[in-house]
Amino acid sequence: MNNKSCCQNVNKCIECTVTQCKYHNNTENYCTLDKIQVGTHEKDPKMPSCTDCNSFVLK
Ligand code: SF4
Repeated sequence: MNNKSCCQNVNKCIECTVTQCKYHNNTENYCTLDKIQVGTHEKDPKMPSCTDCNSFVLK
């Protein structure tokens, strides 16, 4: 595939605003990984803030 117009392999299926992550695209709010793992740090998650991206790696 030849899709290098703007950004390094952004995954348009994974929107993300965590700019501190090394997998965040710097110019658009997308992840660059093919897939991510989402988990929770709560016993009984009830809202978005209860969930985590476990694929996060600090830049
Ligand atoms: S790995 Fe998770 S936190 Fe990092 S850019 Fe992708 S979706 Fe965002």
